[in-house]
Amino acid sequence: MLEKICPWCSEPASVNQLGRRPLQKSLKWYQFSRNVQVCPYCAGPVKLGGKAAWFMVLALPAFLSFLTEAFIGFNFLEAMGTTTIGWALFAIDCAAAYYFAVFEKVENR
Ligand SMILES: [Zn+2]
Repeated sequence: MLEKICPWCSEPASVNQLGRRPLQKSLKWYQFSRNVQVCPYCAGPVKLGGKAAWFMVLALPAFLSFLTEAFIGFNFLEAMGTTTIGWALFAIDCAAAYYFAVFEKVENR
């Protein structure tokens, strides 16, 4: 199930089918991008959202071990003998986050 349903026209589209177009309104200081992703069928602006962010919690052990090894040279996953588990969680997490993500309408276009 790599395709997500467009909230504007209910057509399924995968993320790499999305088009891009510049934002029509002027940027607020907190907006990073001048582009918005748009549905290939109806050109409605969408973003990936939903509960996907919660799955990032599963990726934390692998991410933290990477950080601590980079900065203080200590890998706690290795110290506990759980490197494989940490990275397996990370891989599962990436797939799960995408699976549970949904397209949301971008309101401030
Ligand atoms: Zn659409």
